[in-house]
This record gives sequence, C-alpha cells and structure tokens, in this order.
Amino acid sequence: MVATVRGGKTLEDETQTNFEPTLPLLGQEALLRLKASSVIIVGLNEAGLTCANYLVRVGIGKLGLLDDGGISKSDLASSNLFSLKDIGQRKAAFANQQFSALGTGTEIITHLQKFDSHSTESVLARYNLVIDGLSDWQEKLLASDICMHLGKPLVHHALLGMRVHAFTCIPGSSACLRCMLAKMGLEDLPHSTASKTSFGPASGLAGSLQAAEAIKLICHLGLTHQNTLICFDILKSEFYNLHGLDPEHDCPDCGRPNLDS
Ligand SMILES: [Zn+2]
Repeated sequence: MVATVRGGKTLEDETQTNFEPTLPLLGQEALLRLKASSVIIVGLNEAGLTCANYLVRVGIGKLGLLDDGGISKSDLASSNLFSLKDIGQRKAAFANQQFSALGTGTEIITHLQKFDSHSTESVLARYNLVIDGLSDWQEKLLASDICMHLGKPLVHHALLGMRVHAFTCIPGSSACLRCMLAKMGLEDLPHSTASKTSFGPASGLAGSLQAAEAIKLICHLGLTHQNTLICFDILKSEFYNLHGLDPEHDCPDCGRPNLDS
C-alpha cells in the first residue's frame, strides 16, 4: 500500500506514533485500513457512543455521528460521556467535541438530523460501514432496509432486558435484520418500541462488541457475526451463539437469487 503524506508524515508514521499500543495486536496494514475507512453511527444511545469512542481511539479515518436528540437526565444512568452540566446539549455535537479533543486525527462529522428513510439514505451512502446505535425497533429495521439497498454492512445491537445481542448484516452474503428476527421467532418484536430503561454495563458491552466487529470487518481480521447472533445473558453469565440465521428465500432485501444456492 502506498502511504499518503499528511503534514510531512506518512500514514505509517502516524500509526507508529499515535496507535503504538494497538499496533502489535492489529498490525500496521490493519491500522492503515482503519485510517482509510469511514463509519457512521446512526443513533447515539450508549452502545452507539461506546462504539464511537473505541473507533476514534483506534484511529478510524472518518466517523459520522447521526442523531438529533439532546442529552437528558436519563442518559446519565448509563453514559460515560455525559455529566449533569451537559443536559440539554445536542448529543452528536457534544460527542463530536469530546472525541475531537482526543486528537487522534479522525475526521468527525456531525449529522444533526432525525433518522428516517428520506433524508438518511443519502448520508449513509457516503460511508463504508454503518453502526446501529438506535433504541427504536422500527428505526433498527429501517436501518437494515437502507443498508441492504445501499449495499453497506450494518453492525446491529439489541438490548432485551438483561440480554445483549449483536448481529452483522452484510449485503450479498448474510441475512438482513428482518430475516434474522423471523428466524428467531421474534417477528412481532419490532412492532414495539425499545424500552426506555437501559442497564449501563449491557449498553457498554453491546457497543464494545459492535466496535470489535467493525474493526474486524474493516481490517479483514477473524470471523464476523454474519448469520450468527451473538448473545450474552447477564444474569446467567452466559455467552452463546445462534448460528444458521440465513436469509429468507423470499426476502426482497437479502433473499436474492445468488444467495439461494
Ligand atoms: Zn432478508
């Protein structure tokens, strides 16, 4: 790979100076891939913020933060980023300010807008990968629909009481979110909005799993979660995987003919 020169420094120089602690684990090629990549977090719940934090610290090249909500008192129960004096500020703008102060060189772009099908698709099209930081099931399904249509990988999370789920939708090779939920027998679930309550450790774990998955996808490292749901039951202290959550053959989003074989 040919390094780009920035301010007299090559990308190799940057990875060796700013991200030295990560270098032995990921390798320089992986860090260069991260630097050349763009990721957008749609929705800044605590999982989304946790994921964003790790992506900035590992040196992602460009990070979009899409959320039109403000910081409320209820966010303080699970957030590591907000404090009492921050209530009322826009989450995305505030997070941009905090992450930019880390000085990792990540280009952070704030998208202060509601997540909907009309305005969001053109924004998501500008990024390589999408992270689900949403708390509403209808919005999560919409994110899956848009990503499948755009051909963008979506790294999803869900918090079901004291259980954490993580799943990756890769257009052309894995199930979309609708198919995964149908195979789980949870097709009725998306008709209800997510709970307003959240448990900080669960949110943080979900965001950490999403960050790890995004880094693996970008760096071509290890196995990804496609067609496999990663589950962690906090009360039982059990991690388990549900395999075989393949695309439904008649799904308009992911059940395309090339996947039917
Ligand atoms: Zn599908």
